[in-house]
Amino acid sequence: MHDFVVVGAGPAGARFARQAADRGRDVLVLEQGEIGRPLACSGHVSLDVWEFLPESAREDLFQNDIYGARFHVGGPESAGEPFYKREVISNAIDRVGLDKALARAASDAGADVRDEHTVTDVGERRSHVEVTATGPDGVETHEARMVVGADGPRSRVREACGLPEPREFLHGVLGFDEAPDAQDYVDVHLTVPRFFAWRIPRGDDGVEYGLAARPGDDVSGRFDRLCEEYDVTLDRRCSGFIPIGPPRRVTGRRSLLVGDAAGQTKPFTGGGILYGMRAADHAAREVDPATPGTLGDYERTWRSELRNEIRLGHAVRAAYSLPKSVQKAGLWALSGEIAVHMDEPSSLFTRDGLRTLVGR
Ligand SMILES: Cc1cc2nc3c(=O)[nH]c(=O)nc-3n(C[C@H](O)[C@H](O)[C@H](O)COP(=O)(O)OP(=O)(O)OC[C@H]3O[C@@H](n4cnc5c(N)ncnc54)[C@H](O)[C@@H]3O)c2cc1C
Repeated sequence: MHDFVVVGAGPAGARFARQAADRGRDVLVLEQGEIGRPLACSGHVSLDVWEFLPESAREDLFQNDIYGARFHVGGPESAGEPFYKREVISNAIDRVGLDKALARAASDAGADVRDEHTVTDVGERRSHVEVTATGPDGVETHEARMVVGADGPRSRVREACGLPEPREFLHGVLGFDEAPDAQDYVDVHLTVPRFFAWRIPRGDDGVEYGLAARPGDDVSGRFDRLCEEYDVTLDRRCSGFIPIGPPRRVTGRRSLLVGDAAGQTKPFTGGGILYGMRAADHAAREVDPATPGTLGDYERTWRSELRNEIRLGHAVRAAYSLPKSVQKAGLWALSGEIAVHMDEPSSLFTRDGLRTLVGR
């Protein structure tokens, strides 16, 4: 019997598998398709991402350095207010390559990572779990002490184990223009109800355009209009769901969720790569697969690291719904140099964060 069957080899699942295998656990990872595909993510991350990867990975994954963002109340024609640092804030990276590198690190640590295996059901028993999957050789059943649902926003494990859903889902869509652009700023347009549209320069890998909104809120029509406004025709398009707001419980009797399955994202950007991997570290450290009581330790520790950031992230997001006139005045008043960490809205309230705001 395995210690853990991990469903999904995205950043959260692969990170959990690596850390658990490093601790001597027997870990099987099942991924439904090719690792990293289909792409449904911008791969715009804080520099912290490099702490989760072998040093050699940077050369393959790096696309562009980002120093700040121009916030626009309107479309591309409107003047943007710049928020920036003098040093690099974030990187655009190859997201497909990221998943592959994290999965390789999990294999190197001893996890058994299998692609082309779709999990169709999970049964939680008193002493173990049974995970049913369809692979190239047909239907398989795997037994483990615990199952880890790292299977993204529409988690099958969450549903099969009767765990609650995240509070809200957004529908994100993005596409690429191949013209190289290595400028220092991303553009953010507060033109979408309760969220935003974006443009990310990705160096030699071109430019990405995207937006997210509530499903049913004319996401594709809005995206077409964004492309028209920028006067670009994009051939490669993709889309995915973004969960916002973790549910009150992400653990069951012998099950736990990490990453998007658990709604561990930043409410003000939808970004979940770093939060998911940080939560995965808590899970691998705290959960002893032979002792279901330790699931409570995971619930406690990941929330204690991320709860405040997520709460503040909701507050930042509320500003996207303010009247345009208030947004304009606020952006004008607050723009300039910032001392904020992109994953930590609480850094706004540190001495450095406040000094840069008050001092302008
Ligand atoms: C348009 C868009 C742009 C985004 N941009 C950013 C960004 O710039 N920065 C950022 O930090 N975040 C971004 N995100 C969010 C980010 O993509 C997620 O937070 C992140 O991928 C979560 O990682 P995960 O491992 O939890 O889930 P996922 O990356 O979704 O991985 C889940 C894995 O599980 C597999 N799987 C699903 N069901 C099954 C099954 N039944 N059996 C086996 N395998 C299964 C999937 O194939 C997938 O590989 C974006 C999201 C969207 C939609």
